Amino acid sequence: MSFICRFAPSPTGPLHIGGVRTALFNWLLARKNKGKYFLRIEDTDKERSKEEFKEQIISSLQWLGIEHDGEPYIQSKNIEKHVSVANELITKGFAYPCYCTEQELEEQKSLAKKRNLPFVYNRKCRDLKEKKDSPAVIRFKSKISGSTLIKDLVQGERNISNATIEDFVILRKDKTPTYQLSATVDDNEMKVTHVIRGDDHMINSFKQKQIYEAMGWGVPNFAHIPLIHSDKGKKLSKRDNASTIDDYVKIGIMADALRNYLLRLGWSYKDKEIFTKQESIDLFDLNGVGKSPSKLDMSRILSLNETYIKMIDEKDLFNQLKDYVKKYKKSFDGSKDAILIKSMNFLKNKAKTLEDIYNNAQYIILDEIKIGDEDKKLIDDLSKLIIKDFIIEFDRIELINKEKIEPIIKSLIDKYKTNFKGVGQPLRIGLVGSRFGPGLYDVILSLDKKEVIKRLSRI
Ligand code: GLU
Ligand code: ZN
Repeated sequence: MSFICRFAPSPTGPLHIGGVRTALFNWLLARKNKGKYFLRIEDTDKERSKEEFKEQIISSLQWLGIEHDGEPYIQSKNIEKHVSVANELITKGFAYPCYCTEQELEEQKSLAKKRNLPFVYNRKCRDLKEKKDSPAVIRFKSKISGSTLIKDLVQGERNISNATIEDFVILRKDKTPTYQLSATVDDNEMKVTHVIRGDDHMINSFKQKQIYEAMGWGVPNFAHIPLIHSDKGKKLSKRDNASTIDDYVKIGIMADALRNYLLRLGWSYKDKEIFTKQESIDLFDLNGVGKSPSKLDMSRILSLNETYIKMIDEKDLFNQLKDYVKKYKKSFDGSKDAILIKSMNFLKNKAKTLEDIYNNAQYIILDEIKIGDEDKKLIDDLSKLIIKDFIIEFDRIELINKEKIEPIIKSLIDKYKTNFKGVGQPLRIGLVGSRFGPGLYDVILSLDKKEVIKRLSRI
């Protein structure tokens, strides 16, 4: 069996986390079965579609490593074909012009609302004998009796009574095709075998199935995956601050971690948590997709990201940090690369995100470190004495390593009858500008001798 999958976002807004998971599942299924995965930009809504969103969707998917085959399909380029199918449906008796005015439809809508019923177009124009000259939409002649069955690969058998499907519009008054028509025509032209999308599209699949049947086309397999809900259990919205891909990228979540998180969101394989790209391709299966909505869990995303930060090659981590900084922070020049690469082995230990690494590395990146007001207050006369003594002893060491520094710290603890914090804190504030941050020995060893003395001498 061939597997042709597609992800079909509308470029009317930035890429949504739910959309990414849909793309991921399509991509995995295609790759697993050595099939094809296409990207189709559904840009027929001229008013709401924006070039910038199209670019952003394409680059976000690329960032995540969800590579599509061939060039992206641009739906608006195929409009003529969509219109010709609408005309064919009219000729075959499966579609008809509807002349009802906005006002008439509004009246029906408010009547339905009053009766607490969903609005269903009353099919007034379905059997009109003559054509009129006035502007018309084209409606699909949905089946009135019987029922339609979809054997959904995730939801199982779904059966609905045809009467619940209204005569939906396929061409607007301005002769532009609607989503129902364009998506069906394109899926057929692209020979899509598996349509995997959010379960909010279930009703659309019942409508689209009727178009396939009317045209005598083979109907693809459908798989409707449950939506992602916010941690409060509601449908995700822009206000959640965690709905678009950019929301994650800008705080320094890494692509592999996010992809891994989305893979496990609503899908499982035994109790395996971490999947390489290849493992996810080999093991993914629609059977493992659950039927209930998944809850987004930010703390889980952060902890996966933390795992990846610790797990990946340090050079790779550094490169990702550099890309991240270039995009979202004040970037640093190449002169700091060597020391940063060397410091990744400890910077990665106290970080959940690339942003954390960036913050913890400020003392390396900045030539002039600033001491915060709160920290300044902690430098009392005793601290100054400790720092002075430290400089003298430290300056005597030729080859700097932990074994040489430790005895100095110990002797200062004894001399001033204090503890590690009593000595370590003023030193760290002098070197990093803050009482927080990487461990003292790591800091000292990452800076060169001159720099350590220079920074401490300013205190
Ligand atoms: N453009 C539609 C959307 O963004 C595509 C749905 C589909 O996969 O058919 O929801
Ligand atoms: Zn009508």
